[in-house]
Parts: sequence; C-alpha cells; structure tokens
Amino acid sequence: MKNIRNFCIIAHIDHGKSTLADRLLDFTGSVTDREKQDQLLDSMDLERERGITIKSHAIQMNYTYEGEDYILNLIDTPGHVDFSYEVSRSIAACEGALLIVDAAQSIQAQTISNLYLALENDLEIIPVLNKVDLPSANPEEVTDDIVDLLGCDPSEVIPASAKTGLGIEAILKAIIERIPAPKGTIDEPLQALIFDSVYNPFRGVETYFRVINGSIKKGQNIKFIATGKNYFADEVGTLRLTQFPRKEINAGDVGYVITGIKEAKEVKVGDTITDAKVPTTNPIAGFEDVKPMVFAGIYPVDTEDYEDLRTSMEKLQLNDASLVFSPESSAALGFGFRCGFLGMLHMEIIQERLEREFNMTVITTVPNVSYNAFTRKDPDVPIIVNNPTDLPDPSGLDRVEEPYIKATIITKADFVGNVMSLCIEKRGIITHQTYLTTERVELVFDMPLAEIVFDFYDRLKTVSKGYASFDYSPIGMRVSKLVRVDILLNAQPVDALSALIHADNAQHIGKKMCEKLKELIPRQQFDIPIQAAIGAKIISRETTKALRKDVTAKCYGGDISRKRKLLEKQKKGKKRMRQVGNVEIPQEAFMAVLKLN
Ligand code: GDP
Ligand code: MG
Repeated sequence: MKNIRNFCIIAHIDHGKSTLADRLLDFTGSVTDREKQDQLLDSMDLERERGITIKSHAIQMNYTYEGEDYILNLIDTPGHVDFSYEVSRSIAACEGALLIVDAAQSIQAQTISNLYLALENDLEIIPVLNKVDLPSANPEEVTDDIVDLLGCDPSEVIPASAKTGLGIEAILKAIIERIPAPKGTIDEPLQALIFDSVYNPFRGVETYFRVINGSIKKGQNIKFIATGKNYFADEVGTLRLTQFPRKEINAGDVGYVITGIKEAKEVKVGDTITDAKVPTTNPIAGFEDVKPMVFAGIYPVDTEDYEDLRTSMEKLQLNDASLVFSPESSAALGFGFRCGFLGMLHMEIIQERLEREFNMTVITTVPNVSYNAFTRKDPDVPIIVNNPTDLPDPSGLDRVEEPYIKATIITKADFVGNVMSLCIEKRGIITHQTYLTTERVELVFDMPLAEIVFDFYDRLKTVSKGYASFDYSPIGMRVSKLVRVDILLNAQPVDALSALIHADNAQHIGKKMCEKLKELIPRQQFDIPIQAAIGAKIISRETTKALRKDVTAKCYGGDISRKRKLLEKQKKGKKRMRQVGNVEIPQEAFMAVLKLN
C-alpha cells in the first residue's frame, strides 16, 4: 500500500486537464502507440466534440521512481458544475490533487470551487502552472496568484506544458513525494467508495470504486449500503485503457467490479460497498442522492413516436441514472415526458443523445426549476411544482418558494460594474466582493437558480467580454413573489409556453416573449395574435401577419409528394415544427423565453 498514490486533476475548463492526463499516460508508458489518440479519458463522442469531460473515469499507471515501483491511480473528474456531486466523490477517493492553472488565464471560478472541494477532503494539493509555452503566458504573475491562493511556497508550483511535455517528470516526482500513501488496512471489513459507474450493454454496469479498508474479491458476496442490495462479484479488476481482471483489490487501491447489474440507477455514486456477510458498520460519509435541478418537457415532434420516445428514454436512463422522467400531457403538445436534469448542460446532452443514438426528433419545452407551492388550506405542506402548469390556482395560493444558489464570479476589475448590474437584474444579492489581486475580483451573490437557467451564461460572457468565470452551489429554498405568465396563440393558451416569473418582471418579460414569438413563428395563411396573460389579464399583444396569397400557394398548394417530402424533412429534425391548433410553432419558439435579450 505504501507504493500506491491516488490523485485527481482539478482545473477550470480548458486549463489543460485532459491534455495533461494524456501526457502522464504517455510518459508512464500506459498507452501503446496503437492506442494513442488525443484525450484518452474523454470517451463519449460528445465529450470529445465539446472538449469537456462529462463522466469521470479512472486509470492506473505504473511508474518506477528511484528504484521503487509505484502504482498511480488517476481519477478523472467531470469539468462542469452540473456534475459537481460526482466531482466531490471522485475527490473523496483520492489523497492528492494536481491543481492545474493556465499560465495565461490564471485562477478562475472552477479553480477555486474545485480547490475548496479538495481541501474539504484534506487532499494534498500540487499546484501546476500549465501552458507556460504560450506566448501570452504570465508565469511570474500567475505563480504569485497561486501562492496567494494556497499560501504555499513559490518553489512548490510546478511550471509545465502539457503540450510540449515540459514538467511532466517533475509532476510525477511530486505525486510520489508529496501525496501521502493511502492509510487503510486490509484487516477490517470491506469499505469501498463508489465514485463512478459505466453502463456496458453486454456486461451490465461496471462500478468503479476506491477501497478504503478490507479487500474486494472475485466471487465475493457484496452489499451496496445505501440501496441495501446484495450482489455477487462476477469480476473485479483494475482499470487501464482496457480492464485487467484480478483476484482481489485491496485497501488503498482503485478498481472495478461487475455484478450483472442492468440499470445505472442501482449504482449510486458515493455509496459504500461492503461484504454481505461481514458488513462494515461505517458507511463512507458524504453520500447524497442527487436530485435533478432543471425540468423540461420532452415531446416527440410526431405524436406517433411517443412509444418510441419512451423506449429511448428508458434505454438512456439505463446508463444515465441522473436522468429522471415521468409521463405528462400537454394540451398543446399531446403526450410526452417531464424530465429532470442535473443542469442545462445535462439537458442538452440528453437531447443530443436522443437524436444521435436513438434517432428521435423531439421538442423540448422551456426548462424550469422545481418550486414549492403552499396553499392557504394547507400552508405547511409543499406541493412540488416541476411544471409551471401545475402551479395551484392563485386564489388559493399562500406562497411559492424557489431554489437559490450561491453564485461565484471571478472577473477583471474593469467589468465589476457590468457584472454587478447583470446579477442585480437577475435578482442577485451581493454577499462578498474580494480583490484577489489589483486586477481580479471575486464577486459572490445569492441568486435564484431560475435566473441561471434563463440565458445567464451568454449575457455574462458578453458583459465581461469573456473575462468572467462562474460557478454555483445550491443554498436552499426561499419565498419569492412568482406568477405564471401564459401565452395565447390565436386566443388559445399554449400550456407548453407558460413560465413562472417574478411578479416585478412579469410585465416586461411577457412583452418581450410576445415580440420574440412574433419573430420566430413563421407567417401563415392568417393573422396570428400572440398574447401574454397573467390569469385572465392580458399583459401584452403582438400579431404575426398573414402571408400574401401567391407565397402561400407556393408553400402550401403544391402536390402531395412535395408535402410528403416536407414531412420527411421534419422527421429528420431539419425543421422541427409542431402544429398547435392551426398554428405551426418551431422548436426555437419553445425556448424563446430563454433568449429574450
Ligand atoms: P480541459 O478542459 O482542462 O480538459 O482542457 P484540455 O486538456 O481539453 O485543453 C484545452 C485546450 O488547451 C486544448 O486546445 C489543448 O490543446 C490546450 N492545451 C492544453 N495544455 C496546453 C499547454 O500546455 N500549452 C498549450 N499551448 N496549449 C495547451
Ligand atoms: Mg477535458
């Protein structure tokens, strides 16, 4: 055990985590030339395309240092706030962390949030100043920033370039010398932390774990404490680029187990694996059941595809336990599903996977957060509102609570004013303002989560000319003055376009929604009035004017084969339209409320 090192790499996005991981694998000879391929750890196509790590993975390396053989377990962490619980569990499986800071960008919001997670878990931090090869690198200044942040000695910061390979040997040396060996013992009952799982359609779910105490053996009866289920360990092994089956994995080490589990949701990240016969009395601390934060309706474009959509969602859920869904129906869209996601990125991923892997064409409605509504009749029992249309009638409503977050933004001093105005517009309340250096400022706000869902990232980027990084964590529910704004097309309410909005902004947003919808809804053979309403009160109105006759003839008159072609085109998702009453609504319109600026 004294020759094992378990570590992770934490960094703000794009600071070079995946590239550095590749260099470490290269340098330790953990990949053959044939296996070489950039960003080895990002295995899903989507991850490679977007350059982000969605799911965390682990990989084992061998390294000989001063005549001794070491096992280095690199546990990769996802790089997006939607997945911060998984990050925290991956970190909990390690004794040390490489903290990568881009020598041109310096410390950013996720550098700090990930660092805090690592410090909470008592990890040894090895600061790495990456990208020193860049002409725009500022190594002295950024080293000072890191020293200020960590309170370390400048000599502890390792200058590196994941691109040229500079500093890789120094990093390996630091991993061995500075990160403590794991502490557990094999003599105690099994206690292993689940930090990830991967769905394999042929073998069932592969569960990744870090053994804290005891050992896990092939053929052992094991128990997952949080779910209370027992399994037979068909295979255990270590993770290289491919799996290496072993007889057992002992305290201190990292590995996988295959038990024939068929559904991802049976394996909960953060759960403890123990021996079924001699269970530990000590589950590992920090387990949480992750809850979805953002909800949206997903509907088939073609109503006939409803059952196919259900099958596809069920299959997706087999390998993504954080996706939840339940059937719902909309007067406008017919039958579909209300889906819960960890965040906006997760929602986009699911939508894309439905299209790519399952060939579905879907309409996604405006995302919303989960509210608690209380009626006067029953003012202590929350009604959970995951869909604006479920809000109880205002006449009987006592109050509504919405989820709040602590939002941390790091930006340049020049943009403090802009960022402040944006956050105040988004109902934020500033709680801290700290100058990290004379140039860089950290701003902390309490803000409603719903405002982040509504077009926050893009605006932040614009007002800061790209010089702002952002991170958040939930801080609980707070009472808010919320009303439901409904949209009527052709005098018919379209339930899928309703949104809960703060009363003070409702008038303004209702007006903007009407304007936006007018832009997005294609002109048809008749005038289409577009109205926003709160209850029975119309707060705004626009009209999409009818097409001139000759144009209509061209589009709608044509022969049947032309129409069929159009339909086929829609099916392929090129033209996602939904007929509601006699109005055709394009997909963008369902998201209009997100893009009002
Ligand atoms: P991650 O988001 O932290 O995983 O970052 P990546 O490893 O995907 O790197 C982001 C970008 O920075 C990619 O285009 C890399 O090629 C580039 N990059 C990473 N490390 C270096 C480096 O040391 N020097 C230079 N010049 N570019 C780097
Ligand atoms: Mg990456």
